Amino acid sequence: ELDTQLHVPSKDEIGSLVQAINDLAKELKRYRDTRSEFFANISHELRTPVTYMQGYANILSKGYVEDEAEQQKYLHIISEESHRLTVIINDLFELAKMEEGKIELNMKLTDPAEIIRQSMDKVRLKAHEKELELSSHFEKVSSFYIDPVRFEQILLNLLENAIRYTATGSIRITLTQEGRQGIVAISDSGPGIPKDELPYIFERFYRVEKSRSRQLGGTGLGLSIVQHLVQLQGGKIEVDSQVGRGTVFKVMFPIGDLNS
Ligand code: ADP
Repeated sequence: ELDTQLHVPSKDEIGSLVQAINDLAKELKRYRDTRSEFFANISHELRTPVTYMQGYANILSKGYVEDEAEQQKYLHIISEESHRLTVIINDLFELAKMEEGKIELNMKLTDPAEIIRQSMDKVRLKAHEKELELSSHFEKVSSFYIDPVRFEQILLNLLENAIRYTATGSIRITLTQEGRQGIVAISDSGPGIPKDELPYIFERFYRVEKSRSRQLGGTGLGLSIVQHLVQLQGGKIEVDSQVGRGTVFKVMFPIGDLNS
């Protein structure tokens, strides 16, 4: 059993070998613990929508519900939950590929402002529906050396979160440059994230308010995917948040302009 630590206290080569084996055993145990937690989370996340679907399908098939509007409501829930299942499975698949280093990046010099505009256009309707103001400010910056498709995926994830968790107010996206670093900041006037929870929000399936995030359509995988995508492209991500005031996600990429 690799969990058990060996006790051979000596300062020679055997001693340091034993130390190395003990370290390895500790590392394996840690890996196994986080892995089984991960699988426990996955099965919970997958089981929940299936339970809803089975429940409502059951009620409908037994013919207990006569009212047609009521039937429609249940069918709608079944369809929503099956959609949700698809989203979770797709996200898990993406994450698995990233963690195995199996995603192909198509890195090129890219004008970040163009991609930001594009992603703002895609979320504008959602922001409008919630009466959130969506604004931007772009400084003139050099090109980023990034995969434009993956960069857009990062922005969409962060913008969708900002819109999802913000009830009233505004979402702002800015583009600046500091030295050799390009910075995209996405700020919202949402509920904020408590300081002691900030270190965990990039973990798979971590949510600040579990039921709320689920109700709002979240899978708990978005920020994990974002963090992987940022790091794979040589970037960094930071978050700053104040409860009751809002949250700022900052994504930083090295400037890739070959002429400057
Ligand atoms: P989800 O799919 O639940 O949104 P994420 O991985 O994208 O999962 O985010 C993890 C958690 O971080 C969310 O459940 C939410 O509690 C919190 N969070 C993310 N973005 C924001 C934000 N802009 N404002 C407040 N809380 C946020």
